[in-house]
Parts: sequence; structure tokens; C-alpha cells
Amino acid sequence: MHSKKLIVGNLKMHGRLKWNEDMLTALLTKIGKINNLDIALCLPFPYLWRAQSILSGTNIAWGSQNVSQYEDGAFTGSISSYMVAEFGCRYATIGHSKRRALTSENFQSAANRFTQALKANLTPIFCVGEKEGEREKGNAKAVVESQVRALLGSLDPQMLELMFKNKAVFAYEPAWAIGTENFAKPKAANEMHEMIRKIIAEKNSEYAKQVKIIYGGSMTPDNAEALLTMDNIDGGLVGRCSIDPSAFSQICETANQLKCGETS
Ligand code: PEP
Repeated sequence: MHSKKLIVGNLKMHGRLKWNEDMLTALLTKIGKINNLDIALCLPFPYLWRAQSILSGTNIAWGSQNVSQYEDGAFTGSISSYMVAEFGCRYATIGHSKRRALTSENFQSAANRFTQALKANLTPIFCVGEKEGEREKGNAKAVVESQVRALLGSLDPQMLELMFKNKAVFAYEPAWAIGTENFAKPKAANEMHEMIRKIIAEKNSEYAKQVKIIYGGSMTPDNAEALLTMDNIDGGLVGRCSIDPSAFSQICETANQLKCGETS
């Protein structure tokens, strides 16, 4: 289980075209030679073409922050997985808790988006995580378990095969830690990741050993090492710090020293 860690930047709805260009160029200067780490940036849809032209052939992959649950058709304002794939995306984040909180997206539609991403040969990054109230009631593990089981239970054997083939990623993102000053305690996050891995193992034990389960929720240069040295934390989904090339590069440098399945 000694594969590279994965650091994904979620740029959310920040920046304009010029800012994006400057950001991508600055990041290439800082981390363009890192080779012991998988790196990706999930950008707003309109800037995917620019990521494609700036990042093609580099060590930084790119992706979208969502895809439609439908393939094609009269869905005004929606963007399909096939469309983003045409702009060279390797990844798509799916079911981000902010989207579920701020829009009508729910778990069923997230499962459909996940399937659409797989069909377009993307690597979906499926986000799970408990809300603050659920955590306070001591239900965090039960909530995350039911989210992972709901996704896996919704996939037919063909889709499960595609999920293994496309190396779908899981992101444990406790909603209370996103965009706050709080991050999960590394040991507690590690236990959650271990549980997710065990549930995946019920479907495919070999895949469970390799699947990347990354942590998201206020990861910073200060806490990255403590989180990333946990043996079940295979990387990070980084929000705010991904819009600061210096902070994001520091997190990448930390992860570059580590491999999956290693404790310090
Ligand atoms: C996120 O948006 O997925 C995220 C983890 O954000 P932040 O790092 O800002 O908490």
C-alpha cells in the first residue's frame, strides 16, 4: 500500500481568469518538479480550458468541482461529466457538503453524479462527512458509514468495476471542519478513514488496500504533517489554502515526503 499521497486543491468560486493564470503559473514554479505526490486542482468550470493549456504535460492534474447527474439533455445551467472530460479533467469532486447544504443536491443525486463521472472516465472524489450536530450526538461514525454504504449499495456490478478501474477517491470531510478554524483530530480522522476502508473492503479487498481516502477540513501547512502521517490518511482535499500558492505548496512539500500506508 505504498503509493503516492494525493493533494487536491478545491479552488471553490475564487478568482477571475487572470488570477487563475497567475495562480497556476506560480504553483508550477513552486511544485512543478515534485514527483513523489499526486497533485490536482479542482477549478470553476469556466477556467478548465485554461488549466488544460497551462497544466497539460505537467505533474499537476485538474478537475471540476461537480458534474451533472445527467448525461445530456434539457438541463439548463448544468454541465455534464462528458463536457468536463473534453477539457482534460482527470477528477471531479462529487457530493461536497457545501453543495448539499447550499443547493438541493442530496445523497441520491450525488450517487448519480458519481456514476456519470465514472462513465466519462473521470476519477470521482466522493465526499462524505458528518455535520456538527451529528458529531455532538455521537453519531459521526454511523452517519459516515451510512453515506459510504448508500453509495456502494447504489452501484451495480458494472459500475463497481468502473469505480475500481477509475480509482475513485473518497474524501472524509467533516462538515464542521470545512471553512472553519477547526480540523479533525488526526487520530479520530484516521479511525474514520479506517472504517471507510473496511466498508470498501467488503466489495473488493484489493481495491480497499489501494483506494485513496483523503481528508478535507481546514488543512493547513501547520496541521498537514500531523494528518498526513496517519496511516489511513492518503492525502488532503484543501480548500482555503489552495488559493494561496505558498500555503498549498507547503502542504504539497510535506505530502511529498510521505507515502500512503506510512506512519512516522
Ligand atoms: C473544502 O472546501 O473542501 C475544504 C476542505 O475547505 P477548507 O480547507 O477551507 O476547510
